[in-house]
Amino acid sequence: MIGIQHSDIVVIGGGIMGAAIAYYGSKAGLEITVLEKSELASGTSSKCDGNILAIDKDPGFDSQMSLKSQELVHQLDKDLELSFEYRNPGSILVCENDAEMEAANQWVSKQVEAGLSFKMLDRQDLRNESKYFADDLYGGLECKTDSTVNPYMMTFSMFHSAEKQGAIIHKNTEVTSMSRNVSGEFLIETTKGQFTAKRVVNAAGVWAPLIGQMLGLNIPIVPRKGQLIVASRQQPVGLRKVMEFGYLISKFGGERSVDLLTEKYGVALVFEPTEAQNFLIGSSREFVGFNTKVDYKVIRQIAKRALRFYPQMADMTVIRTYAGLRPWTEDHLPIISRVDEIPGYYIAAGHEGDGISLAAVTGKLIEEMLSDKETCIPIEPLSLGRFRQEVVHS
Ligand SMILES: Cc1cc2nc3c(=O)[nH]c(=O)nc-3n(C[C@H](O)[C@H](O)[C@H](O)COP(=O)(O)OP(=O)(O)OC[C@H]3O[C@@H](n4cnc5c(N)ncnc54)[C@H](O)[C@@H]3O)c2cc1C
Repeated sequence: MIGIQHSDIVVIGGGIMGAAIAYYGSKAGLEITVLEKSELASGTSSKCDGNILAIDKDPGFDSQMSLKSQELVHQLDKDLELSFEYRNPGSILVCENDAEMEAANQWVSKQVEAGLSFKMLDRQDLRNESKYFADDLYGGLECKTDSTVNPYMMTFSMFHSAEKQGAIIHKNTEVTSMSRNVSGEFLIETTKGQFTAKRVVNAAGVWAPLIGQMLGLNIPIVPRKGQLIVASRQQPVGLRKVMEFGYLISKFGGERSVDLLTEKYGVALVFEPTEAQNFLIGSSREFVGFNTKVDYKVIRQIAKRALRFYPQMADMTVIRTYAGLRPWTEDHLPIISRVDEIPGYYIAAGHEGDGISLAAVTGKLIEEMLSDKETCIPIEPLSLGRFRQEVVHS
């Protein structure tokens, strides 16, 4: 029987958030222990794409946070020992009608005004980009700073360096309950014995609310299922990330002129060539609880949508399909926050479809909070408290 194990800081969750926190935390000399109920990256961080994007972020705080993360990932590519297939070719959004071109124009103007590297693309630019695009696409827009990684490898790579810097990682160790003693220390029961900690970081993705409930804390995160198709390496369809403009509408909510099933399953084209030139083709957005079973009705719709933009893909071979759960919050921003009523308790979860993009800045922010440093970007918009604004009834 193992005795009680103590650590200054316990991080719950071995996904990409846990990895980034363990990496930046241990680099700053903090004593970090990670508890993961299964294998590292066994949650959403291995059931996703690997895009580090600013192109789909609201101009303002949202895109500035992404830019900061892009900068940090660029540096991680130099600093981490294990390569994680980082590439930095930019990304594009394509438009299929005049209304989308008009909206894209406005999106680009706002982003350029905010100082980001965006530009419009015309029909000819799309033809130069890929001969596989449908002929009737109107054009699109480009964000130069966007990059791509292998999310699974990035998670492992950060954990690998974190361990070398002194972090301790316990896999197959599920947190089953938590309490606090009179001196405010956390007592954490797990399937592998008891841990104590002065501070706890809840980085459990879609499971963060369950960890919160252990201390009576309500964390408003809901799983939003997404499915992807993996195509085999065959022809060089494209060298960088492509999304349809309707993806923005699907993500943030709004009217699209698509058929009923495309709308129902929240399907919008996402095309990502991996380093090995396999293609990830997505994706869907559905609120169906914790169900991660692949639904072939949805997959069929994703394939149909991809053919609208890349008709020649009809002849290509599919290797497999998978589904993951995005940790969704109502305002599409993550919760990276202290919890006022539980001193020493922090949350780093709720990144929806942006967790790979925002993991680095999240790890850095949590390290800065734990070290009582000034944070690299403002943290007020990310606080748990923003969901608790009192409703004033007239
Ligand atoms: C289809 C799809 C495509 C996506 N594409 C992109 C993209 O291109 N770019 C992007 O930025 N983001 C993308 N995302 C989103 C991104 O994958 C997530 O935001 C991110 O992986 C969340 O990471 P996490 O560490 O918070 O959660 P997770 O990776 O789920 O990690 C949480 C961990 O906590 C562990 N855990 C849970 N309960 C316990 C417990 N009781 N005890 C111990 N451990 C526990 C889990 O086992 C899990 O490993 C996509 C998501 C999906 C589904």
